[in-house]
Amino acid sequence: MSTTTKVSRQDIRKIIFDNYNDTDVRFSNDEILAHLVEEERYRAMELDVLDFEDVLLEMEASGMLRPIAQNFNTRYYRLWGQVEQTSCKACGKTTYFVPSEEGKTCPHCYATL
Ligand SMILES: [Zn+2]
Repeated sequence: MSTTTKVSRQDIRKIIFDNYNDTDVRFSNDEILAHLVEEERYRAMELDVLDFEDVLLEMEASGMLRPIAQNFNTRYYRLWGQVEQTSCKACGKTTYFVPSEEGKTCPHCYATL
């Protein structure tokens, strides 16, 4: 979990929570990218889906994302469970996790949740 990335894990989780938080909904890395580039701090970065592939792979490994199809660099997912918005008990900041995920770590203070 120590890989560095241009895109924050928290931002991707919030996009999924805000837009795709239903286990019946299929969404893709291209769609997540479209939401990311609407945000001011990512607009000038010319992001590609490969820039946050490591984050999505982590979310597959932890049991949040269920990969269902792939077409070249486009990957399609569903959620294993609904994402819940909670506050970290250590720092009080907002986090977004599927309750059944393994190895939940606060993206702000790195406390184990
Ligand atoms: Zn925290």
